[in-house]
Amino acid sequence: MKFHVLTLFPEMIEQCCAASILGRAQSKGQISVSATNIRDYAENKHGHVDDYPYGGGAGMVMQAGPICRAFDAVTSGIEGEKHPRVIYVTPQGQVFSQKMAQELAREEDLVILCGHYEGVDERALIQIGAEPVSIGDYVLTGGELPALVMIDAIARLVPGVLNNSESAEDESFSDGLLEYPQYTRPEVFRGEAVPEVLLSGHHANIAKWRREQSLIRTGERRPDLLESADLSSKEKRFLQEYMTRDSENT
Ligand code: SAM
Repeated sequence: MKFHVLTLFPEMIEQCCAASILGRAQSKGQISVSATNIRDYAENKHGHVDDYPYGGGAGMVMQAGPICRAFDAVTSGIEGEKHPRVIYVTPQGQVFSQKMAQELAREEDLVILCGHYEGVDERALIQIGAEPVSIGDYVLTGGELPALVMIDAIARLVPGVLNNSESAEDESFSDGLLEYPQYTRPEVFRGEAVPEVLLSGHHANIAKWRREQSLIRTGERRPDLLESADLSSKEKRFLQEYMTRDSENT
């Protein structure tokens, strides 16, 4: 899968994506991340890519021209010149989720536009056919961190990027629930022992315990997720009984 990032700070994207699992995936050719500097497409000698907002108000707005020229240059290099999916990262978009990451991981090419200052001239977004996506209800200084969050979440779902020991199966959100608690050596840490069932070697009991812990953790921390999770009537009863017992004890 190929990520094409349009940004004013290509070094932020390049440096982050060269490290760890993304770096390994790039050297194995499983993904590629290219960052195009929008400033290279400015048409004035000062390299200005922003201007004052029409109608007044604080801050500067990124101009449509450099963005559209950078976009044309990137997409003309895409094999077959197919029109790729284009994301504009913005606090005004649909909130990014694991489901969206799974869907986007099926794309061959993905263009991500990072805004800065007060944002981007609306006409650029229409011209390049950008879908607005937010990483959460807060405002950052620029789109580079949101782009990196999306690239990381999507890339690890591309087949082959994670090896067996890093598997994405069973993880939080993969089945609509949060993951169960994890433990590793030592068996006792500061007087706290690992739950006995995990040492039993009994796979069915371990799977049952983990499922129950997933249910409890989701019920306690993210009850909103339970509304769309696929639970059996036995699991719903288990959760209801646990929650009632828990509220009686507090
Ligand atoms: N004036 C804009 C508004 O009120 O919606 C905010 C602009 S923000 C200071 C600058 C850039 O950071 C945005 O164009 C966007 O690319 C990025 N950004 C900031 N917060 C974000 C978020 N929560 N999700 C995705 N992108 C974000």
